[in-house]
Amino acid sequence: MSDNIPSYFQSSPDAEGYYGRFGGNHYPPELRSALLELASSYQELHKSPEFHHALNKVRVGLQGRPTPIHYLENISKQVGGAQMFIKREDLNHTGAHKINHCVGFALLAKQMGKTKLIAETGAGQHGVALATAAAYFGLECEIHMGEVDIAKQSSNVGSMQLLGARVVPVATGQSALKDASDSAFNAYIEQHKHALYAIGSAIGPHPFPMIVRDFQGVVGREAREQFLSITDGTLPEHVVACVAGGSNAMGIYTGFIDDPDVILHAVEPLGKSDELGQHAATLSYGRPGTLHGARSIVLQQDDGTPAGVSSIASGLAYPGVGPEIAMLHEAGRLSVAAISDEEVINTFLRMAKFEGIIPALESAHALAFAIRLASQRPSSERILVNLSGRGDKDIGYVLENYRLGDQPDLS
Ligand SMILES: *Cc1c(COP(=O)(O)O)cnc(C)c1O
Repeated sequence: MSDNIPSYFQSSPDAEGYYGRFGGNHYPPELRSALLELASSYQELHKSPEFHHALNKVRVGLQGRPTPIHYLENISKQVGGAQMFIKREDLNHTGAHKINHCVGFALLAKQMGKTKLIAETGAGQHGVALATAAAYFGLECEIHMGEVDIAKQSSNVGSMQLLGARVVPVATGQSALKDASDSAFNAYIEQHKHALYAIGSAIGPHPFPMIVRDFQGVVGREAREQFLSITDGTLPEHVVACVAGGSNAMGIYTGFIDDPDVILHAVEPLGKSDELGQHAATLSYGRPGTLHGARSIVLQQDDGTPAGVSSIASGLAYPGVGPEIAMLHEAGRLSVAAISDEEVINTFLRMAKFEGIIPALESAHALAFAIRLASQRPSSERILVNLSGRGDKDIGYVLENYRLGDQPDLS
């Protein structure tokens, strides 16, 4: 980054919360004052060294940051192409990157004089991370979760309850992430005087995508510095992240977006097939639309309503992307790929057997793509993958549905 070239972040988003033609605030007028209050409180606190000092204390002690970068030596050797490295967000307390912005929102809520945090959750990772932050900061917590996900993720539900959160079951629509999001946002509209909505990803109306990106940016800032020191001052050629709303992706991209030579890869879930309803590959198959209060790219049916989605990873089953991801895609800054459920399972098993790491099914999408990319690139190139979370939550599901004999034997 040269000192006289302005950083990408100086102009993104614009004053109205737009990233190019995406973003903005398309929520009911009764929420306007709450969103303005949030934006102005955040602008103030974001500049305050005390706020960052307090946040950093929690990042180190409660979360366990910084998380390391690790070389995937065994799989890199098996593949015989580019070298793969992982940023170990799976080592965060509660097991995923989501806590990076949950502790930020909890601290914001505290400073704004709010007494409660509200959010939705898909796989339960965001709910557990937020309930953890709420417990630490002494805030009430209300988590909206689809009934299908509640059935699939019972241990996360138990954790949230132990941490003192109220889990609200959602039975509308597909009873999954999008429906939980709608339900949580409605609860926020009703309770915004004393509650703050701690959204699960870099989505929603302005200023949510910006706040989530900024809090997740710790991943990329650390990763850039760590990579430079591991490799004697060179950057990776490729940075890879899975994308639902784009919080872990924007987090790691933050460290490299001002470096045009670093290719940023966005990996989407291709689910069971490329037929609408069978996947959640929004950038690959969606078109411009409005979802959860922002203009973005949305997977839609012919009549414009959001399409049903499917992915083996609950945390990726979302029919949209955050507005900044939509803009970066349209601007040609992202390289997009989609990975099927089957490839995800193979990678999940392969990571466990050959690297001793059980990745979240969400993160296994990014790893599966990295393996594919590595096989096509020379050994002089380096691929940095954001390993967004650990797979403990997925072990039961995988063991029930797949035979371990299906495991690739590449030793
Ligand atoms: C929620 C989740 C994701 C997807 O969300 P993004 O906002 O797109 O990052 C990815 N990985 C894990 C482990 C998750 O829990």
